[in-house]
Amino acid sequence: MAADLETEVQAIDKNLLECSAEEIAVKWLQANDLQKEVYQHLAYYVPKIYCRGPNPAPQREDMLAQHILLGPMEWYLCGEDPAFGFPKLEQANKPSHLCGRVFKVGEPTYSCRDCAVDPTCVLCMECFLGSIHREHRYRMTTSGGGGFCDCGDTEAWKEGPYCQKHELNTSETAEEEDPLVQLPEDMVARAYNIFAITFKYAVDILTWEKENELPGLEMIEKSDTYYCMLFNDEVHTYEQVIYTLQKAVNCTQKEAIGFATTVDRDGRRSVRYGDFQYCDQAKSVIVRNTSRQTKPLKVQVMHSSIVAHQSFGLKLLTWLGSVIGYSDGLRRILCQVGLQEGPDGENSSLVDKLMLYDSKLWKGARNVYHQLFMSSLLMDLKYKKLFAIRFARNYERLQSDFMKDDHDRELSIADLSIQIFTVPSLARMLITEENLMTTIIKTFMDHLRHRDIQGRFQFERYTALQAFKFRRVQSLILDLKYVLISKPTEWSDDLRRKFLEGFDAFLELLKCMQGMDPITRQVGQHIEMEPEWEAAFTLQMKLTLVISMMQDWCALDEKVLIEAYKKCLTVLMQCHSGFTDGEQPIVLSMCGHSVETIRYCVSQEKVSIHLPVSRLLAGLHVLLSKTEVAYKFPELLPLSELSPPMLIEHPLRCLVLCAQVHAGMWRRNGFSLVNQIYYYHNVKCRREMFDKDIVMLQTGVSMMDPNHFLMIMLSRFELYQIFSTPDYGKRFSTENTNKDVVQQNNTLIEEMLYLIIMIVGERFSPGIGQVNATDEIKREIIHQLSIRPMAHSELVKALPEDENRETGMESVIEEVACFKKPGLTGRGLYELKPECAKNFNLYFYHFSRAEQSKAEEAQRKLKRQNREDTALPPPALPPFCPLFASLVNILQSDVMLCIMGTILQWAVEHNGYAWSESMLQRVLHLIGMALQEEKQHLENLSEENVVTFTFTQKISKPGEAPNNSPSILAMLETLQNAPHLEVHKDMIRWILKTFNTIKKLRESSSSSPLAETEGNIMEESSRDKDKAERKRKAEIARLRREKIMAQMSEMQRHFINENKELFQQTLEELDTSTSGAHENSPVISDAKLTALGPEQTRVAEPRQVVMCILCQEEQEVKVDSRAMVLAAFIQRSTVLSKNRNKITPDPEKYDPIFMHPDLSCGTHTGSCGHIMHAHCWQRYFDAVQAKEQRRQQRLRVHTSYDVENGEFLCPLCECLSNTVIPLLPPPRVLFNRLDFSGRPNLTQWIKTLSQQVKALHLLRNEDCASKFEEICLFSCIFCFRNPYSESIKEMLTTFGTATYKVGLKVHPNEEDPRVPIMCWGSCAYTIQTIERILADEDKPLFGHLPCRQDDCLTSLTRFAAAHWTVSSLSAVQGHFCTLLASLVPNEKNGNLPCILDIDMFHLLVSLVLSFPAIHCQDFSGVSLGTGDLHLFHLVTMAHIVQILLTSSTEENGMDQENTNSEEEVAVLTLYKFLCQCTGSALKEISSGWHLWRNLKAGIMPFLRCSALFFHYLNGVPAPSEIQVNGANQFEHLCSYLSLPNNLTCLFQENSEILNTLIESNNEVKRYLEGKRHAISYARESNKLIDLPDDYSCLINQASNFSCPKSGGDKSRAPTLCLVCGTMLCSQSYCCQTELEGEDVGACTAHTYTCGSGVGIFLRVRECQVLFLAGKTKGCFYPPPYLDDYGETDQGLRRGNPLHLCKERFKKIQKLWQQHSITEEIGHAQEANQTLVGIDWQHL
Ligand SMILES: [Zn+2]
Ligand SMILES: [Zn+2]
Ligand SMILES: [Zn+2]
Ligand SMILES: [Zn+2]
Ligand SMILES: [Zn+2]
Ligand SMILES: [Zn+2]
Ligand SMILES: [Zn+2]
Repeated sequence: MAADLETEVQAIDKNLLECSAEEIAVKWLQANDLQKEVYQHLAYYVPKIYCRGPNPAPQREDMLAQHILLGPMEWYLCGEDPAFGFPKLEQANKPSHLCGRVFKVGEPTYSCRDCAVDPTCVLCMECFLGSIHREHRYRMTTSGGGGFCDCGDTEAWKEGPYCQKHELNTSETAEEEDPLVQLPEDMVARAYNIFAITFKYAVDILTWEKENELPGLEMIEKSDTYYCMLFNDEVHTYEQVIYTLQKAVNCTQKEAIGFATTVDRDGRRSVRYGDFQYCDQAKSVIVRNTSRQTKPLKVQVMHSSIVAHQSFGLKLLTWLGSVIGYSDGLRRILCQVGLQEGPDGENSSLVDKLMLYDSKLWKGARNVYHQLFMSSLLMDLKYKKLFAIRFARNYERLQSDFMKDDHDRELSIADLSIQIFTVPSLARMLITEENLMTTIIKTFMDHLRHRDIQGRFQFERYTALQAFKFRRVQSLILDLKYVLISKPTEWSDDLRRKFLEGFDAFLELLKCMQGMDPITRQVGQHIEMEPEWEAAFTLQMKLTLVISMMQDWCALDEKVLIEAYKKCLTVLMQCHSGFTDGEQPIVLSMCGHSVETIRYCVSQEKVSIHLPVSRLLAGLHVLLSKTEVAYKFPELLPLSELSPPMLIEHPLRCLVLCAQVHAGMWRRNGFSLVNQIYYYHNVKCRREMFDKDIVMLQTGVSMMDPNHFLMIMLSRFELYQIFSTPDYGKRFSTENTNKDVVQQNNTLIEEMLYLIIMIVGERFSPGIGQVNATDEIKREIIHQLSIRPMAHSELVKALPEDENRETGMESVIEEVACFKKPGLTGRGLYELKPECAKNFNLYFYHFSRAEQSKAEEAQRKLKRQNREDTALPPPALPPFCPLFASLVNILQSDVMLCIMGTILQWAVEHNGYAWSESMLQRVLHLIGMALQEEKQHLENLSEENVVTFTFTQKISKPGEAPNNSPSILAMLETLQNAPHLEVHKDMIRWILKTFNTIKKLRESSSSSPLAETEGNIMEESSRDKDKAERKRKAEIARLRREKIMAQMSEMQRHFINENKELFQQTLEELDTSTSGAHENSPVISDAKLTALGPEQTRVAEPRQVVMCILCQEEQEVKVDSRAMVLAAFIQRSTVLSKNRNKITPDPEKYDPIFMHPDLSCGTHTGSCGHIMHAHCWQRYFDAVQAKEQRRQQRLRVHTSYDVENGEFLCPLCECLSNTVIPLLPPPRVLFNRLDFSGRPNLTQWIKTLSQQVKALHLLRNEDCASKFEEICLFSCIFCFRNPYSESIKEMLTTFGTATYKVGLKVHPNEEDPRVPIMCWGSCAYTIQTIERILADEDKPLFGHLPCRQDDCLTSLTRFAAAHWTVSSLSAVQGHFCTLLASLVPNEKNGNLPCILDIDMFHLLVSLVLSFPAIHCQDFSGVSLGTGDLHLFHLVTMAHIVQILLTSSTEENGMDQENTNSEEEVAVLTLYKFLCQCTGSALKEISSGWHLWRNLKAGIMPFLRCSALFFHYLNGVPAPSEIQVNGANQFEHLCSYLSLPNNLTCLFQENSEILNTLIESNNEVKRYLEGKRHAISYARESNKLIDLPDDYSCLINQASNFSCPKSGGDKSRAPTLCLVCGTMLCSQSYCCQTELEGEDVGACTAHTYTCGSGVGIFLRVRECQVLFLAGKTKGCFYPPPYLDDYGETDQGLRRGNPLHLCKERFKKIQKLWQQHSITEEIGHAQEANQTLVGIDWQHL
């Protein structure tokens, strides 16, 4: 059956393939009714090609569709073979100068901060690189998909609209030329025909809703087959869909994931194919399973023919898109066809139909037709306009559809608004002709229906669904923003009218916000439920920029401004027509002034923070001043209608509310209010909230008597009583009043004074003060930097958002700040220039309270450092604009003087608590401001002007009867000497000094100069006295400091002496190794030091006493005492790997005895160097384990370490560890017997050894294992007694087993014969890694290791040397025999690797460390030392052969020195001999110089490793020559290692070895014949991959990367492995694989092959480094890319150009080379617990 079906399909294919595109096209050309012909063709073939079964076969379908369906269309269109036709078209085409490249997801896009008209103007990478903006301040982002390159759009760029490529075309094409003239007429006709038919077909079928028929097509299918089609939504999660599918259609989890992935990508996927019932059944299961909590998943049973035609419909649209790419003429025809109105009139064009059906289409279909629109309609200048009109007319419908739709905005046609509205000419046209502004605002209002009785928005109790809608409706504000982005340069009457109409609509919107969310103070009970406040603030936040832009527009035209001002005022009056209603009028009077107002208490009645209408009016009022309209056309303005008390009322209430909240009066209203107040002042909102309230007060006050204003203000602050009643304060403090109330009043007074400071002092907005925009931004920056130096991004964040906040800042920052570059960590900082400190205003209105006190502290400190007095007087201010000029009079008004006087009086009396220092500080500041003001007035005095500002005179006058209070000046003089006001003395002195200066100024201007006033002299002398006093105090302080320092250092010395060991351990990182052992050992300076062999330098090992970090007890390291251990961490490592593709062998069967020279996987041991008693550690570890198990059961939380795997944190430094290494004395000494025999030479020694080995084999071969064991046992008892204490033996086993377990990834088994091999291997590998690090850093071999590494290597080597004592002797002997056989073959050990496949250093370590097992049964009397030496020589010889065989010397190209040294001759002889041995297969080399040079370079790493190894094994100190980098390192090493300088001499001693080494194995031959690869020497160190300097290269690389598993789809989280350079598709279902029975993401899976479980990645989209270790551990790490401001950009949010910082990258590389990645993760996770919760394994 199945086979039949297959042949049938094949048969169809054959039939289909016989179709000829040309013949069909010819038939069509002759047809009368072309549409009928084409439709018939489609009706017949489409179902035969598409959807032939349950799974689509895209390649087959595409191939057939091209052949049978599209082919004929192309023939028809071209009238000839399209293979010729299309290229012809393309050549004839004069392409448009627009780039129009549509962005893929993740593709980099560039915008120029200097030249882009708005931030939405972007370039593709290619255009950007060819543009002038490359050299400008640009910004890069990654595209979210959709949108296109604006290169060539003159409206998008202020400068340089063309890149080099697109500039070429501009001169030729006249803008207006009709592209159709390029095409032959008959082709135009054919194009019309075929486009009309195919476009209509596609639109009809995609918008088709009937189930069993087709639009104008016959149903050809005989049998009815159906698909069960699953659609995507944004409600259900991946997991839900996968789970449901498994149930509904009985598929595997893999298939379900496949379905879900496609549904997510394309928007729909058939999940079942068959008859109707079969499909319907699946549908109902899916619906049932997903309808419980949410609305069910959308599933539809569809006839297979419809699905087939829809698939082809989409294909057609894509085809149209590509065909019009050949010619602008064809593009124009398609546009015409698309926008042609059908028979049904309005909205009947194909384009309209598609747009209006948008929300019903699935994702894939939307994408396809949106792309077509972008490449056709939006690329044709004429039709772009027509399309824009269609779009605007349908705007309301489209937006309503979008509200109902649940797809993201990027997937909606509504999102095209960004492409249309941001084009300035289109936006202007749509405003004037289609009234777009009004439409957008009205549509917005229509969708926001929740209102209260007064018609204001109400978000209380709104549901989740409404919240969802509210989020969607916000996108309309974005549209409004786009429309307003570019401001008109010329105004037509039409534009004015339509803008004002839009302004009206906008005012309606603001009116609904004016007074929304009112609140009433809660007394007694705390509020029960926090009221909803976020929605209202979200709205405000989103509108902030729009409100500012509206004002910007108004500022551009005087007529518009005047009209807008009138409209705004009218609406405000409507809002508050009855602002007095219900509230009683009262009369306030003070100091002989009286004013009428209403009785209103913020603390008792309703108050709202939302006052957008008032604030807009305030903004417009400033514009009247700024544009001077107010002076030019006063008659046109309704200034007389303004009622200042009405204007200030609501903003004042709002500010009083803030003050009261701060005074703690609204505590019972909960956090929602605190949040609102926070946002009211926050940088995101303040520009159109708090700032404008201040402006409104300034506006009001400038129009009224300041005394009146102050009285109203006192009344609103509920402080009127206090200041209007004489002696109120006195009564207040004497009576036993509520302390809280007093405190409250104090805060309110402080707040009120602060408000007055702001009203008078804030004049840095153009229009209020005589400043420009630059001054404003400079002032913001100065005050931010007064707090502390800041990074660029911090500064940007602190500034309000507007289109050029960054460029605005950058244009002035150089003037006020210096940039300091970052170091290896941290970021670049801006520091305030010292000369700018004088502009600092302590009461800057944008400071938060915390910022204010920080700034105060910082500025005072600065002044102290400069030895200045610490007063922070108010800075000199710019003058007000005339409209606001009268504001300064507040400062000298009677009520103000009364307030100042009262507070100073309180301060003088200094009684009780009805008074505070902050109050006084503010009063002093106000006095200072007034003095500055008067001084400036006097200085700028011109002839005719009279100075009306006479503050100095007023404060000199004493109060009148009946008070008879002293004058303010007198009180200040009193306070100057008050002991309780030390802090304010400097300020008071400054005031008095300024007072005198002014007095002088006045006198000089009025009459003859007088002598210095007495006061001045007095003041001056007191100042000197003060200075002396300060100096004396400073001196005392210095002496005291010195004394303390001396005491401390004494204590420190003492402490160090007492805790010497501890100290050495903890500070080890700081200084390099001067390990105790070396220090204490006798200095052997003159003697030649030899590390091994019979000549080994004898060194008395010093007594080593260490302290346990857990119990603080000291103990000596001895063989027979309790074990001391070092915390250690063992890990598998591929850091040195030369072959990352090696397949890991089955760990159970793997024999690790020989390490391959590719070092593909080693075992690394590291340690933090902290020492514990073994038993203390065990107790500690047991406790940790018990605790963690309890905790995990209870809380199910992870920790940064995996207890079950034996992991723990070092108790002292929290370094991740998984085992401990025992500390041992040098083990060789224990087993070395007296050197009583003659020393055999190498040949003799090998002979003896071979006999021994043979004997061992013989014993084994007797096939009597037990007997053999017995003998061994016997011999052991006889000749060797394990000298170690039980405790040490136990630790030897513990660490050995851990190495085995981790190194092989197997279960622990201490009996396994591979345990000792792994121990030797880890020792060898760790030494090799350290040698590499030292070499890479160009450090000498000895003397530069940190203590922790030095201690670690010592213990590790000694441990590895002692480990054989706890393993099976026969096993170790067996290993030795095998190892030796690789160099000295014997008949027993066959199948050994060839010498090309052995890492010689590993071999050396294993041989030397297993040798004692043989030696202990050796009666030949040869010493261990002799054995070591011979083994070392043997291995060295083998390595020399290895190097010579694999040497890739190129003779030419290198300068050869003409020497013929002994070494060169010898090595050449050796090489020739090698050639003979290999049967002349070896390449001939005649230069001994090259060979010797090569050999030396190749063998160096081995010699260096060996030197380290024998140094740690035997404890012979390194000669001073190799502790520094110097000449003749090679010779010094040879001497230390008992090697002849001429290495080839070794072969003279034993030349047969050479033969045996090569002949034994024919692998060497295969290699020389080029049949296999071999590692050559010296192996280069591994580095992380090279990264490009420019980060956008990486983004581009990543955007071209598609997921390897889901057929060309773009990966969402492309992630680069920094070790091998592989790009991965991370954090995505598509690329999950199974690893050890668990699903893991691509990164985790990759770490297992590339890094043995450890990985270093760069998440390209996020610009973030990712460290992974195992499945559960990971952390993020700052990327090595910095912007010009020395900052990283994790998440790529700011988009500044990023460049590689080599030093930081080196740091990451070093972490990797040092095997510290896991440790780094551990520390990061300990520091940040949220990291533990991240699902690392799925990345
Ligand atoms: Zn481009
Ligand atoms: Zn371009
Ligand atoms: Zn530019
Ligand atoms: Zn202890
Ligand atoms: Zn530690
Ligand atoms: Zn890799
Ligand atoms: Zn993938």
